[in-house]
Amino acid sequence: MIDRVVQSPPWLSPRAAYIHVPFCKHKCGYCDFASLAGQDHQADRYLAALAREIRDQLAEPCQVDSIFVGGGTPTRLTPDQLARLTGIIRDRFILTPGGEWTVEANPGTLDAAKADVLLESGVNRISLGAQSYQPGLLQTLEREHGGDDVDRALEIVRPRFGRWSMDLIFGVPGASIEQWQDDLDRALRSQPEHLSCYGLVYEKGTELHRALREQKVVPVEESLEREMQEVTIDRLRYAGLAQYEISNFACPGHECRHNLVYWANDAYHGFGLGAARYVEGVRSVNTRELSAYLKRVEAGESAVTATERLGPEERARETAMLMTRRTSLGIERGEFLERTGFELDALLGEVIARFTARGLLEDDGRRVRLSAEGVFLADLVLREMV
Ligand code: SF4
Repeated sequence: MIDRVVQSPPWLSPRAAYIHVPFCKHKCGYCDFASLAGQDHQADRYLAALAREIRDQLAEPCQVDSIFVGGGTPTRLTPDQLARLTGIIRDRFILTPGGEWTVEANPGTLDAAKADVLLESGVNRISLGAQSYQPGLLQTLEREHGGDDVDRALEIVRPRFGRWSMDLIFGVPGASIEQWQDDLDRALRSQPEHLSCYGLVYEKGTELHRALREQKVVPVEESLEREMQEVTIDRLRYAGLAQYEISNFACPGHECRHNLVYWANDAYHGFGLGAARYVEGVRSVNTRELSAYLKRVEAGESAVTATERLGPEERARETAMLMTRRTSLGIERGEFLERTGFELDALLGEVIARFTARGLLEDDGRRVRLSAEGVFLADLVLREMV
């Protein structure tokens, strides 16, 4: 089934780097990330370990097109700690001209002093975790900020950073369609060029999942969730933000470079607590235990707890699945062959034909992508591809 040898395997040399900062003021009810509340006193030690982990793995500085600092809440660090963090990053990563350096920020923790440090260090994009403007829904999510904090944070972000994005969550228990429309309207008033709109997921182990099990919260009806998704796609398209991935919308040229790396199944570095990476064809992930991470890295040991090397066919299937998430690009047959060495139809012809017949995929002979209906049932299609 392999058609030819891949000339420049995109799974080998990373052109992107993810750096994790796990500290948060409070653990939000829905949060499944490697994030910790009440551990700020460990931040300086963490930064020292992070610097060591990066230096141990990269003997020389390397060029990347994208740096993404996520969390956790990177802006939970003090201005001095943020300066130290960006220094650690700049020591080993050189951003190519026109490259993107994103830092995640929370409305309640970003101030002008921190934003100035980030700007002066070369950060050129902020991803703001707003999630909602509705006080009651923010409370359900156990967010530590109010709707007005989002506007205040944007007053800091907009004059400084040419590129910024906002995250919103729909389908929060108790949410109405009017509230969601209001969230979208308020976000659009700030003229964003990138918005991420996620449906709420009840991840196992979270407070919200526990509340669901104990019937303390009632999930929104499926039909309402779908209506919210439809409204999102329509309103954002009307505002000039095209859906380029199932949950992501951008004005032309403002797509998140870092996420495009993930959705092309290209290699990327990852450092920090719980960070995942894909280097030299191997996926690996660090421990999510802070004390284990610190002790291991300080002792010069690897923080990795799991590794996986995919075979060529598995890798190609995974690439197809990830590319299908890109609602506008989808899978272009020539690009797929070039990047994986596999003919798309030899690998997934039957699945593509079946979902095209059901109206969930569109296939114009050159490109396969989710149909308008397929976007709502994407999980079904993606599952079958791997
Ligand atoms: S701020 Fe973000 S990372 Fe921190 S607990 Fe809340 S959702 Fe998780």
